Amino acid sequence: MSNSENIPQFPETFWRDSVSLPDFPKLQESIKTDTAIVGGGITGITAAYLLAKEGVNVTLIDAGDLLNGVTGHTTAKITAQHGIIYDEFIQHFGKEKASLYYQACMKAKEFIENTIQTHHIDCDYSQEDAYIFTNSDEYISTLESEKKAYDQLDIPGELTTDMPVDIPVKSVLKMKDQAQFHPLKYLNVLVDEAVKNGLKIYEHTTAVDIEYNKHPTIITRDEHRINCNYVIQASHYPFYDGQGFYPTRMYPERSYIIAVKTPEKFPGGMYINAESPSRSIRSANMDGEDLWLIVGENHKTGQGESTMKHYEALQDYAEEQFGISEFVYRWSAQDLTTMDKVPYIGSVTKNEENVYVATGYRKWGMTNGTIAAKIITDRILDNDNPYSELFTPSRFQADPSVRKFASMNADVAKHLISGKLEYTQNNVKDLEPDHATVTRVKGKRTGVYKDQDKQLYAVDTTCKHLGCEVTWNSGERTWDCPCHGSRYSYTGEVIEGPAKEPLNKVELE
Ligand SMILES: Cc1cc2nc3c(=O)[nH]c(=O)nc-3n(C[C@H](O)[C@H](O)[C@H](O)COP(=O)(O)OP(=O)(O)OC[C@H]3O[C@@H](n4cnc5c(N)ncnc54)[C@H](O)[C@@H]3O)c2cc1C
Repeated sequence: MSNSENIPQFPETFWRDSVSLPDFPKLQESIKTDTAIVGGGITGITAAYLLAKEGVNVTLIDAGDLLNGVTGHTTAKITAQHGIIYDEFIQHFGKEKASLYYQACMKAKEFIENTIQTHHIDCDYSQEDAYIFTNSDEYISTLESEKKAYDQLDIPGELTTDMPVDIPVKSVLKMKDQAQFHPLKYLNVLVDEAVKNGLKIYEHTTAVDIEYNKHPTIITRDEHRINCNYVIQASHYPFYDGQGFYPTRMYPERSYIIAVKTPEKFPGGMYINAESPSRSIRSANMDGEDLWLIVGENHKTGQGESTMKHYEALQDYAEEQFGISEFVYRWSAQDLTTMDKVPYIGSVTKNEENVYVATGYRKWGMTNGTIAAKIITDRILDNDNPYSELFTPSRFQADPSVRKFASMNADVAKHLISGKLEYTQNNVKDLEPDHATVTRVKGKRTGVYKDQDKQLYAVDTTCKHLGCEVTWNSGERTWDCPCHGSRYSYTGEVIEGPAKEPLNKVELE
C-alpha cells in the first residue's frame, strides 16, 4: 500500500465511531448540588457512578460532548505495566511506595472487571499479557533491571526473547494477566447506571473559575453558578489552579494512533517498546475482525514537525512489520506527565480541601483515572483509602526529574519569546485549500486557515492561557500551544485546556 493518499483525510477515533452515546442539555441556570464533577472522561464518569450509587446528589458538566476528551482517543490497555517504571520508582521512593503504585493499578483493573460483571457490560474486555520489548542492545540491561524490580515487588513477570506478535526483538519483559477493553462501551453503561441513580449531566457547559468561601462555587462561561460542597476537577488539565502551580509541575505529550487491518490475524497480547520512537500495539474488535491499533511518535504538544508526518511514520512501520490491507482510522491525543511520574490526585491545595484534582496520568489513565475516582470519592464518602497519600498533589519528592523540569520550564520561556519574535509575512492569497499559515495582520501574529471551500478563518495566535504563541497542527487542523498543551479549533474554540477562553478572531481586509 503506497503512502499518504491512503491515510484517512480526517482524524476520527474508532471508539467514538463504534458506539452511540446519549446527548445531554446545556446548563441554563444556576444550581445547587452536593458534588459537582467537571469533565466527562473515565475519571469524571467513574466518580459520578460511584457517588450516585451511594445516593449522593451529583452533577457532572462537560465543556463539549461526554467522552470526547482523551478517554475517547485512548488505546485503552488496562495494565499495571506503565512502561519501564518500577525500577525508577524503587530508586526514587523506595520499595513500599513502588509496590503501592502497582497494587493501586491492579485494584483498578479488578474494579473495572467487577463492574463489568455486575452490570453484564459487553465491552470487548479481554485478559491479555502485556509486553515491553526492545530491539536495541542499549535497552537489554534496562529491561533486566526492570525485571529485578518486578521480583522485588512480587510482580508476576518473565524476561524472554519471545512474544506472540512477529516483530524483531532482542529482549522482552512480560507482565501476565493484564487486560484491554472498549472504553466507551464500558463508560456508556456507567453513565446510564449513574443517571438511573440521579446523576444530572450538562454538556457544552464550561467551568471557568471557582469561588471558594465556606463552600466552593463553580462559575461557568455563561456566568451560571454551581453551588456545592465538593468539586472534582476531572477535566484532564485542572481548569482551576488555586495557586497549586500545576502548569509548572506537568508537561503535555502527544501521541498518534492508526487503526489498520492486516492480512494476519492478531495473535493476542499488548505491546510497547522501550526505545524511541515509541511504538505501542494492541488489537480491537471491529465487527468480528481484528483492527490493529499502532500507536507512537510521542512529542511535546505544539513542538512536532508537520503532524501528518507522524501518521506516515506509523503507517510505514505497520506496512513494514505486518502489511496493511486497509487503513481504517487515524487519531491523536495528549496526556500529562508530572514531576515524579506519579499522578496528582487529591485536594488542589491544602487550603481548598474540598476542591479535588485528578491529573498527570502519563498515558495510563484507564487504571490511574479509575484509581483517582476511587480515592476522591472515598474522601467525599469518608472512607479510608490506602493509596491516597501516594498520589497527594502536595507531596514533594527530592528527585532528579526536578532538574529536567527546570529545563522544561526554560523550554516554555523559549517558546514564549521565540513565537513572538518570529518574522512572518506569508501571503494568505497563496494559501492552498485545507492549509494554514501564520502571517501578520496590523502587526499582530495571526493564524489563517483556508478550508476546502476556500473560506478563511483568522485567529490571533496568542494562547489565552499564559500568552505563548500557538502553532498549526496539520494532522488535526488545530492550533496547539507548545507551552502547556492548550489546543484550539481552526475557528479558535478551545478543544483542550488549560486555556478556557477561545482565541481572538481577527478580521481580514
Ligand atoms: C495516545 C494515547 C494513548 C493512551 N493509551 C492508554 C492506554 O492504553 N491505557 C491507559 O491506561 N491510558 C492510556 N492513555 C491515557 C488515558 O487515555 C488518559 O489518561 C485518560 O483517558 C484521561 O481521562 P480523564 O477523564 O482524566 O480526561 P478526559 O477523558 O480528557 O476527560 C476530561 C473531560 O473534561 C472536559 N473539560 C475540560 N475542561 C473543562 C472545563 N473547563 N469545563 C468543563 N469540562 C471540561 C473535556 O471536555 C473532557 O471531556 C492514553 C493516552 C493517549 C494520549
